[in-house]
Amino acid sequence: MHRTKSKPSGLGGLATFALAVGVCTLTLASSIYFAHEADLAAAQREQQVVENGIDNLVRELSRKAVPQAVWDDAVRNLDIRFDPTWAATSIGAYFGQTEHFDSAFVVGHDGEVLYAMRDGGTVAASRIRDLLSNAQSIVGAVRLAESRRGPLAGLVARGETLAHPIMAAQVREVSGVPYVLSATLVQPDFGTAMPQTACAPIIITAKAIDQRLVARLADELLLTDARLYRSVAAVANAHAVAQIADGDGRLIATLEWRPPRPGSVMLMRALPPMALVLFLLGGLSIWLYRRNRRAAENLIASEARASHLAYHDVLTGLANRLLLANRLERALEGLRRDGVSFAIHCIDLDRFKEINDTFGHGAGDELIREVAHVLVQACRPTDVIARLGGDEFAVVQLGATQASAEALAARIVSLMSEPVNIVVGRVFVGCSIGVALIQDGGGSASECLREADLALYRAKDNGRGRYALFEAGMDQALRVRLQVREELREALAANQLKLVYQPQVHDGKIYGVEALVRWRHPTRGEISPAVFVPIAEETGLIDALGAFTLRRAFEDSKRLGDLRVAVNISAAQLRLREFPDQLRTIVRETGADAQRIDLEITEGLLLGDDPLIQATLKRIRSMGFRIALDDFGTGYSSLSYLQRYPIDKIKIDRSFIANLGVEPQADAVIAAIVRLARALRLEVIAEGVETEMQRLRLAAAGCGDIQGFLFGRPMPLAKLEAHLRAAAGSASEDLAGDAVRAAAAGA
Ligand code: C2E
Ligand code: MG
Ligand code: MG
Repeated sequence: MHRTKSKPSGLGGLATFALAVGVCTLTLASSIYFAHEADLAAAQREQQVVENGIDNLVRELSRKAVPQAVWDDAVRNLDIRFDPTWAATSIGAYFGQTEHFDSAFVVGHDGEVLYAMRDGGTVAASRIRDLLSNAQSIVGAVRLAESRRGPLAGLVARGETLAHPIMAAQVREVSGVPYVLSATLVQPDFGTAMPQTACAPIIITAKAIDQRLVARLADELLLTDARLYRSVAAVANAHAVAQIADGDGRLIATLEWRPPRPGSVMLMRALPPMALVLFLLGGLSIWLYRRNRRAAENLIASEARASHLAYHDVLTGLANRLLLANRLERALEGLRRDGVSFAIHCIDLDRFKEINDTFGHGAGDELIREVAHVLVQACRPTDVIARLGGDEFAVVQLGATQASAEALAARIVSLMSEPVNIVVGRVFVGCSIGVALIQDGGGSASECLREADLALYRAKDNGRGRYALFEAGMDQALRVRLQVREELREALAANQLKLVYQPQVHDGKIYGVEALVRWRHPTRGEISPAVFVPIAEETGLIDALGAFTLRRAFEDSKRLGDLRVAVNISAAQLRLREFPDQLRTIVRETGADAQRIDLEITEGLLLGDDPLIQATLKRIRSMGFRIALDDFGTGYSSLSYLQRYPIDKIKIDRSFIANLGVEPQADAVIAAIVRLARALRLEVIAEGVETEMQRLRLAAAGCGDIQGFLFGRPMPLAKLEAHLRAAAGSASEDLAGDAVRAAAAGA
């Protein structure tokens, strides 16, 4: 039976792998994001610092003028009286050489230039005119603050500090160069000299914001790659910038530097270990995936193996009983749904047990495999072939009609009647088939099988090597059979079985008898041994039946003078290892003379070269018994076993006798058998002789020993004894033949 199978997958491993990849991707993405954010925050912070730094620079530069401007000496030398020498030293030299300003100059109360220094030396007022014009707004701011301060005399009177510097600063672009311009009002610090007017001189300083200044700023603020651009454009992408605007808010320069990237640095440091972890995780999940996948595949394979084992026969690979039942259910469903009829063939091998017992299980297994092969060849691919166990097979033939079912059964029977080649040689196994044609979906699978089984019984009863179709009524026949088995058991126990004796004559003289068992059933009447002996064989009752027959026949033999007594032995008895011992015991217990007893066995038993049968026959003969081969000519095996087995006598089967006068070559066949027997020094007797014509023809063929209704029917011992006595009485008158004939007529 097939089930839907999941594809092999290492889902656990795949999930782990996906999880690992997911976790790593997430970690990496969030690391990059946080690094970027950290870089951005750091850049913003630094931009703030730089902007503050620029403001501080402007303020610091403007403060540099305070010591020179807020000073009594400055009031004295610039305001009260202008001293050009003092100005050159304390303004020009001080700002130019000491403080490295680009320019410093002093403007008077009405804006006139009192002194001017540029690039370290005193210059004419015209040289600083560009700076002065740009400084007007800060000068204005200083003058405004000066007027708000009011006269210094008043400050002194109010006790306020004199040295409160008045100043203003601004960044301005002068001739394309950004400058820090600062203006500081000249005021006294200690008041030893006081300004003359309400408009004191103003000291103006100018410092260009150039690369040198930027380098200093960068040093102080720890900036890397700081650079000043006059234009606002052309700033590298990855760099941070701070814009420098003039007093009117116009952008005049850009300071650019490489900002610290703490996030990126951290990321760079974290990446290698992260990559390693990712790599390891990846490896681990791939390993897990592979392992799980392998495990899953193994599981599915073993599941498939187990399910195949569960539904198939190990020896032949055919379906087993379970799968057959399943397919039968399906066939029944198909019949109910679509009206597709089908047939079941139950196949039983006729001589499997003999071959198996003779050649061993290895040969038996090989034979079963060969039979399976033959069945596969005989059937269509759509048919279901099953081995039900032992030597039983079944075929479900889908879409069968009576004609096609019979054709298949006939084909199988014919194929199986051919010899089969196995390692030990060619064997004839043969088979019987019971066929049930199922055209009504009302029954169950087991009922269908039972019908085929019943038909199989019929096929076997009809003589094996054939098929039989199930017919209503077979059921009844089987029931009777099963009942007979039970009743036979009881009959044996109740001693209901009797023996009758049929004379065997030579030249009209009785020289022996054959013991035949009889069962008079209280209600069914006389039941033929041909019916109940096979039942006894099948059910194991043959032991008891055989022992009864032997014991009774041996005992009776003592009352029959020197007549020989023939007893039928079933194949099942002979195969028992302890059979010779059983015989010995019965001989001892009954005191019979083994020399006067013939044991009749059938041909089929001698099939093959069974050492056990050989040994058993030899032991039996060594006890004095003689072996007769019953029903000679009906078996399959060659005549060669007549030489191989220790046989004393053959009984020509009555079917040959019945052919005398009917079939033209019947006389020749019998003559050939007789010649063969003579050549092998075997006795020969014809059984089933019913007419004088048959007797004469047998005599002509050389067969003088005769058994049959012509000379006497099987009769009870007492009747036989009476006839023997009568025959003995008329023996002197040589009328024995007539006496026996009279007995036969009376039987
Ligand atoms: P068999 O051993 O071949 O026995 C001969 C059968 O042929 C007997 O049938 C007998 O009644 C019958 N017969 C004898 N003469 C004639 C004749 O002229 N015409 C016809 N048509 N039949 C004749 P029976 O007694 O029914 O036995 C049938 C078979 O049952 C025997 O065949 C034998 O194989 C078996 N059998 C009988 N008794 C025993 C027994 O005690 N033990 C065993 N194991 N088998 C037995
Ligand atoms: Mg017999
Ligand atoms: Mg016979």
